Amino acid sequence: MTPKKCMAIVLAAGSGSRMKSSVAKQFLPLDGKPLIWYALSVMEQSEIIDGCILVTGEADMDYIRREIVEKFGFHKVEAVVPGGRERYLSVANALRAGQDMGICDCDGYVFIHDGARPFLTHEILGRTYEAVKKYHACVAAVPVKDTIKISDGKGFAASTPSRSLLWNIQTPQVFETGLITKAYARLVEEAEGLGRRGIQVTDDASVVELFTDIKVKLVEASYENIKITTPGDLILAEALLHSGRDGET
Ligand code: C5P
Repeated sequence: MTPKKCMAIVLAAGSGSRMKSSVAKQFLPLDGKPLIWYALSVMEQSEIIDGCILVTGEADMDYIRREIVEKFGFHKVEAVVPGGRERYLSVANALRAGQDMGICDCDGYVFIHDGARPFLTHEILGRTYEAVKKYHACVAAVPVKDTIKISDGKGFAASTPSRSLLWNIQTPQVFETGLITKAYARLVEEAEGLGRRGIQVTDDASVVELFTDIKVKLVEASYENIKITTPGDLILAEALLHSGRDGET
């Protein structure tokens, strides 16, 4: 049986406002390379990933094509598409473009990854690939280390969920292409109603949870698979790169 097509959607359309920098977060240097280089380079070298859709801000599309895709020879990038106001709109745009351009095989798999997570590894791609083949939908995640409390919204603790049940959710989040495309189409149709009910969609698994009966498998990834959000994260990332340690799981 020929393997099904595996497409990566790499997200780099965030405003990066928490980084407090005039340069867009995805282009900030990390050990001499733009932040977005790291995730793209793992996708490029992966034996699992066949092609990649890169999502970026409308104003950065030419720059990213020239200064990232062409300059570093990321041949697997099949399309650069504009993102949306929110992360979920960026993913929805990419899925729609993948379908319209005929580069996402409905029968295949989609690996949705935050371009702001430079410590993606081949091992994480491998584990999530095995899980999606078995369970239809999965996310990279790690068990939480801290105690988490639910607040009452007024600055006081309301309850303490059992730590043994809590996971920090990362990316890649990996799905059957048909499943995630249909779920996102529903989300776009119903986004206004969800917003009125106070439901915020901050990851892709939530879309599957909201609109399908499929259970999303949690796949243990790595505590080093951090998302670069603040200037402190960049310092931590430099330290991790220089520590030369293998990904700790
Ligand atoms: O904002 P957040 O930290 O959740 O962003 C996670 C990833 O999603 C980042 O790689 C960011 O560039 C991307 N993103 C996007 N479009 C948005 C918001 C975030 O592609 N509108």
